[in-house]
Amino acid sequence: MSRRNSDAEDADANPPVRRVSDWDADRLAALAAEHDTPLYVQDLDRVRENCERLLSAFPDADVRYAVKAHTGRAVLEAVREAGLDAECASAGEVDRALAAGFGGDRLHYTAVNPPARDLDYVVDVAEREPGLTVTAGAVDTLDRLAERGYDGRLCLRVNPGVGAGHHAKVTTGSAPKFGVPYDRAAGVAREAAERFDVVGVHAHAGSGIDPDQLDSHRELVARMGDLALELTDPDPADADPLDLEYVDVGGGFGVPYREDDDPLDLPAVADATRDAVGDLRGLALAIEPGRYVVADAGVLLTRANTVKPTPEGTVVGVDAGMTDLLRPAMYDAYHPIRNLGGADGEPAPADRETESVAVAGPICETGDSFCTDRALARPARGDLLAIGVAGAYGYEMANQYNSRPRPAEVALADGEATVVRRRERLADLTTAEREADGTAETEVGR
Ligand SMILES: *Cc1c(COP(=O)(O)O)cnc(C)c1O
Repeated sequence: MSRRNSDAEDADANPPVRRVSDWDADRLAALAAEHDTPLYVQDLDRVRENCERLLSAFPDADVRYAVKAHTGRAVLEAVREAGLDAECASAGEVDRALAAGFGGDRLHYTAVNPPARDLDYVVDVAEREPGLTVTAGAVDTLDRLAERGYDGRLCLRVNPGVGAGHHAKVTTGSAPKFGVPYDRAAGVAREAAERFDVVGVHAHAGSGIDPDQLDSHRELVARMGDLALELTDPDPADADPLDLEYVDVGGGFGVPYREDDDPLDLPAVADATRDAVGDLRGLALAIEPGRYVVADAGVLLTRANTVKPTPEGTVVGVDAGMTDLLRPAMYDAYHPIRNLGGADGEPAPADRETESVAVAGPICETGDSFCTDRALARPARGDLLAIGVAGAYGYEMANQYNSRPRPAEVALADGEATVVRRRERLADLTTAEREADGTAETEVGR
């Protein structure tokens, strides 16, 4: 890396990535001892650093945190204090963002085939918070908003016909589910302006913008810039110009999950983005990072409970599973794993041989596996493992399959650790059932 001196100093203070090896092992071991496992640890100081790097790479842009990556209240508050807006994908997310103190003028709701209940809720919020912006990607959604009396701020989601993404399931830019087809977008936006205050155009190409995919990012951005200029052209052949405020080019900023992946060169992505969007003639550029804000700020701690030699190799059984961290099972995602040791009578991990192992959870599913053929300091029963880069789409996708209570989460801030989500109990698994049949009161607290 050839960096100028001042950049190198910045990089020391706020490095472009935090690896699982960078976490303080003693601190994590103490947290696991105090709060038990599986345990999510989310470092709010690192969340703030990630926000700062984004804001300094995109100084003129509106930066909106896609809250679905991690909606924990402590995270939302940290992001709000850092100065980002909130991009929400459901009524529940809007509710959480409001509770975390985001005012309507910092709230963006992106409706994807929105359930009626969600639209009712958001239209109601918008009456109180008229600064809220609704992003819609289908004419039906516009009609449904109008039917509810909504005539407020509206952004049109466009399918730019190009997509990026680390896995087919998260490539959205060219999936017809998302957005109005590009060649119909201008017409739809002009019609929408008769019913709403159309303030922007939006596209999100999917997750995983990495150095190899910069070209498709550039193409998406260029198309969106062209569309915005067409819509705001003061001298169009056929229509009045729209009074747009911004062009939103979505999120998808990648993080290095593998230990040897380079971190995203954020300043280079920012340059490419500005370059591709061109002169926006006064319109703002907006971005919507989710993963980038929270991924490397989180680890999942899990304890090895079974070490089993098999003809196919050693299988390390742990107390976290796909219910706690779904990404490996759902996307074949790689998460780095570090053995923090701690098994009775075993040497420190640094003094052990390395062994290639599989790490698997307690769920009755073959897919409930965090890795195979992974070189770890030879694990022993009782060791604590840290699964890294787990802060995005980690707790957020946790579920109760196999009747598994969700794990606890601890937030770190200024050296202090606070439990921000208690570990669920067995009684939490049946709350809805017991409330339905009226027996909830007697059983709570089990
Ligand atoms: C999920 C999502 C994002 C954020 O994606 P990341 O890969 O987490 O950055 C941004 N915008 C929209 C509309 C999304 O659905």
